[in-house]
Parts: sequence; C-alpha cells; structure tokens
Amino acid sequence: MLDRLRRRQYRWQLDQVLAPLIAALRQRDGQFLRRLAHQGIDLLYPPTCALCGAPGDAGRDLCAGCHADLPLIGAHCARCAKPFPVAALDHDSTATWPHAAGLCGHCQRQPPPFERCIAAFRYEDPLPILVGGIKFQSKLNLIRLLGELLAEKLEDERQRPGWQPPEAILPVPLHPRRLRVRGYNQALELARLVSRRLDIPINHRCCQRMRSTQAQSALNEQLRFSNIHGAFEVTSTRTLPRRIAILDDVVTTGATVSELARVLKRAGCERIDIWALARTTMTRPNPTPIRVQPEYSRFSLQTP
Ligand SMILES: [Zn+2]
Ligand SMILES: [Zn+2]
Repeated sequence: MLDRLRRRQYRWQLDQVLAPLIAALRQRDGQFLRRLAHQGIDLLYPPTCALCGAPGDAGRDLCAGCHADLPLIGAHCARCAKPFPVAALDHDSTATWPHAAGLCGHCQRQPPPFERCIAAFRYEDPLPILVGGIKFQSKLNLIRLLGELLAEKLEDERQRPGWQPPEAILPVPLHPRRLRVRGYNQALELARLVSRRLDIPINHRCCQRMRSTQAQSALNEQLRFSNIHGAFEVTSTRTLPRRIAILDDVVTTGATVSELARVLKRAGCERIDIWALARTTMTRPNPTPIRVQPEYSRFSLQTP
C-alpha cells in the first residue's frame, strides 16, 4: 500500500517536470526551451562577475557589489542624454540654472535629427572595460549581461508618461568588411536581447553602411562628423518603418547616430529615437580594454 502511494507520488512529481517540457516541445515554445537551456548552462558554468571574479548575482556575470557601483546616467540632457557636469548639478539656485529647460547648450542651439536619446550609463569606469570586452575581445557572455542591463533601463522608461514605442529597432550597421573581421555586430547582438524583452522587432536590413570609415574612436569631435558623412544608405523606402529606435553600444559625440537619423528622416521616417548602453561627452580615444574575467564564453552568437 505504502509502495503504491510512493510510486504514485513519484509519478506525479515526474509529470510535473516532464509535462511542461513535452508541451513546450509540441508547441515549439522557444521561450521555455531557451530558459531551460540557460538553466542548464548556469548549472555547468555558474555565473561569475566579469569585473571581480566573485559569484554572479541573479544569474548574471556581475556580482551585486559591482552592479551597485555601475555609473547610472544620472541627470542629463532631455534630448541627447549628454550627462550634465557634476559641478553644475551642485548649483543650488534654479534661477541661474544653465539647463533650465533640461536641454544642453548644443541641443538648444542646434537640435539633433533624432527625438530623444536614452542611455543607461555614463561611459565611465568600468563601462569602457565591459564595452571593450564585447567590441574587441569577443566576450560573448558580456553581450547578454549588457543587453539585459540596457533592456532593464528601457523597461523602466516604458513605464514613464510619453513613452512612444518604435515600430522597429535598427542596430547601427557595420560595414561588411569590418563585420567579416569581427565576426558579429555587437549592436545587433545587444538589439536581439532588447527586442526579445520589449517585444519590438529588429529591422537591420532597411539600412546599410556603404562606406568603410576610419574608426570613430581615433578621431576628435569635428573629424567624427566629416568621417561618417555619407556612410549610410537606406536600402528600401517601401519597407521603412515610420518610427525607428537606432541602437548603439556607446554614443560619444552623437556623430554616427545623427548621420544615420538624418539619412532615415530624409527617406521618410517620422520619428527616430536613440537607445544606447552608455553616453559620454568625451572625445578622447576609447581606452583599450585590458582584462575581463572570465575567459570562457557561455553563449553563442547568431551572425546576421
Ligand atoms: Zn564583482
Ligand atoms: Zn543635448
């Protein structure tokens, strides 16, 4: 009698595990299977902080301490997301506040061709190390981490009044030659995670990079605008979404995203937003990333 009860209980427990798996396989529930695959990977390779090597928090390659230390964007220009200088923020008189309208001086003088830039972080330590890891060292585990951090920021923004969802996300295109060398477009890989979380499709074929340009990171602000001029071309105006969010890893002077926004608007786009992981006002060359932990890559990339 006891044996029969135990057998029945065991079968019931097995059913609890197998039933959703079988149902997911039957319905090809990609999300459930992806979650299951991630759990399996986490068991084999426990999440480890990419910055200090401590055990990762919440299934991520980032510990709680390093997460808390990340430089959030803070007070910034309402249009281009340029962070306001800390000295200006300490000013206690709103009457003489230089950015009373919430716009930086540049946006007041010459509004950019995009509606608004949303950035999650200031491009300060340790962001150059993390971004360098995905850009120059193919640290694929960091793509998932940074993509999730950006998606979280956008999910917060989605709750705010005035949020206007784009019809499609356009990752900043790489020139085919650079794509061949790198093997992947980091903006597209970040966009895949954001697209899944926000349920907004990616359209990375509506625009392409026609000209292979010199790396923007090696140029000063003035040269960046002339270097990128004429680099993009819309491939088909028939399938061009009316509202697009351009996604890039870091916005520095805004030269690249402004040029892309200009081309899209000329082709008939009504509204362009910019989504970026980090925003900086500095024009110094990006520091070469030194070392990122861990050495393994837990996730594979899909090439475009
Ligand atoms: Zn850490
Ligand atoms: Zn601005």
